[in-house]
Amino acid sequence: MSKISLAIHGGAGTILPSMLTPELELSYKQGLQEALNTGYNILENKGSALDAVIAAVASLEDCELFNAGKGSVFTNQGKHEMDASLMNGIDLSGGAVAGVTNIKNPIQLCRDIMLQSNHVMLAGEGAKEFALRCGYELQPDAYFFNQYRYDQWQEIKDSAFYQLDHKEDKLHSKEKDDRKFGTVGAVALDANGNLAAATSTGGMTNKRFGRIGDSPVLGIGTYANNKTCAISCTGHGEFFLRAVVAYDVSCLMEYKGLSLQDACHVVVKDKLVKMGGEGGLIAVDTLGNYSLCFNSEGMYRGIRTNSGMNEVAIYE
Ligand code: ASP
Repeated sequence: MSKISLAIHGGAGTILPSMLTPELELSYKQGLQEALNTGYNILENKGSALDAVIAAVASLEDCELFNAGKGSVFTNQGKHEMDASLMNGIDLSGGAVAGVTNIKNPIQLCRDIMLQSNHVMLAGEGAKEFALRCGYELQPDAYFFNQYRYDQWQEIKDSAFYQLDHKEDKLHSKEKDDRKFGTVGAVALDANGNLAAATSTGGMTNKRFGRIGDSPVLGIGTYANNKTCAISCTGHGEFFLRAVVAYDVSCLMEYKGLSLQDACHVVVKDKLVKMGGEGGLIAVDTLGNYSLCFNSEGMYRGIRTNSGMNEVAIYE
């Protein structure tokens, strides 16, 4: 029987049991399980890894608990600027959007950019115009409104501070280290042995408009290559960009022969830690191995395989 597997994440950081009520913890787990089931059903019905990761990420984008799509945080101008990317391990094709607004599911726009434009990444107004041409209906700002995230923004909107999602300590600045991250992602291996990866985020509360993180950048926040692995990252984007995280894992496997587990461990638990880059990643390879690796206290995550694994978890 060929192996199939799907892993998802909903962000990493300082996520401690003391920070979530039992009800909220249950809601997060339900949101994760729903996304896992949505993507896995596609794999189980012989669908492609690409379709599975898009469906899983779109499900997380529709759940306002996660900082992506509907749940995206506010920028310093009170908007929701979203970054997302998608990559197909069969042929290294990919699509990405950066700083896009009013799109319900940025991950679907990534697919259309990949399939219907001659480009890989579109940003801001250009991405929106392309979406309109593809027949997308724009969502009003009210669709993305969330009182909790609005209050987070109000607290810091007149300052130079910016903060990542779900933070315990409210303010983030260069001087004050951030501890929690949003973002959602999925990686999959399908029955034909193909890999795919997808990532989507609203970025950071009060982020400077135009700021782009690691999530939409192929090879950094997202990477898939049938020769090695599929990866989706979450964490402090500025560090992940400089560490070229996803491609580094793939290179360690391709050029140095490391296993998926070892490659993820080197990048997340050693290289990133030495740089001060907090966060994690999810990864699968063509043999059905997987890794849900993070250097923070927790990561919203889930894994389902046809070897019987079906789990969602939050803490270490
Ligand atoms: N990596 C994302 C960014 O820097 C944030 C996150 O993963 O939560 O935009």
